Amino acid sequence: MTSPEDHPHDGPNIHEQSQFRPDLSSLHVREDVAITGLCGNVHLPTGRTCDLPERHEGSCHFVGPEDAENLAAR
Ligand SMILES: [Zn+2]
Repeated sequence: MTSPEDHPHDGPNIHEQSQFRPDLSSLHVREDVAITGLCGNVHLPTGRTCDLPERHEGSCHFVGPEDAENLAAR
């Protein structure tokens, strides 16, 4: 009884990171922006924030830190 189907999550090669989407690996959501109903994704390498609506279509549109401050909830 060693069918791998019996224990799909029981294996030494399972890493939780495998569940992360590679295209989001460099993104972080700014909660003070996201709470206002905006996307709020932060492009970590540049520190810029997406100012498009939440769950917008297509790619994020990142703005600089000064603009992001205006987006954030106060
Ligand atoms: Zn976005």
